[in-house]
Amino acid sequence: MQDDAQSPSWRPPSLDALLRSASGADLVAIFGRQASAACLRDAIQAARTAGGSDDAALLGDAALRLAKRRALSIKPVFNLTGAVLHTNLGRAPLADTAISAMQQASGFVNLEYDLAKGRRGERDSHITEWLTTLTGAEAGLVVNNNAAAVMAVLNTLSRGKEAIISRGELVEIGGAFRMPEVMVRAGVKLREVGATNRTHLKDYEDAITDKTAMIVRVRPSNYAITGFTSSVPEKELAALAKANDVIFYDELGAGALVDFRQWGLPYERTVQEALSDGADIVSFSGDKLLGGPQAGMIVGRADLIKRVAKNPLKRALRLDKATLAALAATLQLYDDPDSVAEQLPSIRLLARKVDDIRQTANRMADALRPLVAQWAVQVEGCASQIGSGALPVDMLPSAAVTMTVPEAIMRGRGRRLDRLAAAFRALPQPVIGRIAEDRFWLDCRCLEDEAGFIAQLGELQVP
Ligand SMILES: *Cc1c(COP(=O)(O)O)cnc(C)c1O
Repeated sequence: MQDDAQSPSWRPPSLDALLRSASGADLVAIFGRQASAACLRDAIQAARTAGGSDDAALLGDAALRLAKRRALSIKPVFNLTGAVLHTNLGRAPLADTAISAMQQASGFVNLEYDLAKGRRGERDSHITEWLTTLTGAEAGLVVNNNAAAVMAVLNTLSRGKEAIISRGELVEIGGAFRMPEVMVRAGVKLREVGATNRTHLKDYEDAITDKTAMIVRVRPSNYAITGFTSSVPEKELAALAKANDVIFYDELGAGALVDFRQWGLPYERTVQEALSDGADIVSFSGDKLLGGPQAGMIVGRADLIKRVAKNPLKRALRLDKATLAALAATLQLYDDPDSVAEQLPSIRLLARKVDDIRQTANRMADALRPLVAQWAVQVEGCASQIGSGALPVDMLPSAAVTMTVPEAIMRGRGRRLDRLAAAFRALPQPVIGRIAEDRFWLDCRCLEDEAGFIAQLGELQVP
């Protein structure tokens, strides 16, 4: 830097002059006058604090600020965390057909318009038939997410009355969604029964009074109680509810529509099973095992669904057109259960065989070795999780590329690992792994775009 640029008496050039210069005019052409002026002002301010700058540097700084200001904050990442349905990383990746359905639904569409009759139609009509066809339910509707579904069901069918729930199911589902608190907000009086590890039919029986509106079963999806445990089978709860003329609500959470055991995955109760076991009403997520967009499905008895649909909350919790379109396209894939594992990325990734993952990991390790020369790069076995609290105990055998801190580093190994993880996150399409056992792990289960992964590695700033 020149001496005069650093003098305390530095006088910045005029904003107008900068905007009129050749590079300034380029910025205005790309970003517009207002934003360009704002970023130039910020650049000048920063230069003033630093003691001065020249015109080219000011314009360069402004260009960087403008690019940063216009970069989309939400962008694709490589999810190599090992959790397939990672809530922080957007849960289920959508199927191609769901993505194009969203695009198609982005302009004017027949969202609430009956084309045959030429008048107002039903927003949920685009998916209710799929829901009933696929699950065997009498009726169904959809809201913003499953938390909203729980809220709508409880508030509609149990407000001012009691809902009976086992103490083993008073779960917190992450992010301030605690069943007991949700019930209070829904205007429902919680009637806890049983103990954390064991609840018997008699506990439910004894709790039923004329104030009881429903018995609730919540799938304890994100944890498991093992050992000396006992819970009442859904069929028995359904029979008890029926005999006492109260509602049996099965809150499934994950919401599988197919038997996951066919792909060697752990058993997860399906919506169809919940209904055939006698649930009057069932709720589940759209973006967990179903593999669609964020949504909450409610299916069950037509009279109950009708009541939920009339609750003003339903209007507050409704889906937008793009999400509805993606959901309909996702549900449609289940019309051919034989091809759903190929068409639906979430199931495809969950069902991916460890040998195949290991081959990917080997190729990635070969690509990484020359770039992170001092780090020990290996391919190691690991265990992926389904994520989103689904099937928390069962882990899926997988393979990862691991990078171990260079041998020579004795102190600050943890910090060095953090910096490596940060360098991967700083790539144009950020790569998200995890740190464990003194190593940085990239679980390759969810790595399908190998070429895209390798193409950007040249930009990796290895610490
Ligand atoms: C995940 C989950 C929810 C919340 O569903 P969202 O779709 O994330 O709102 C509610 N209940 C159970 C049992 C769950 O597993």
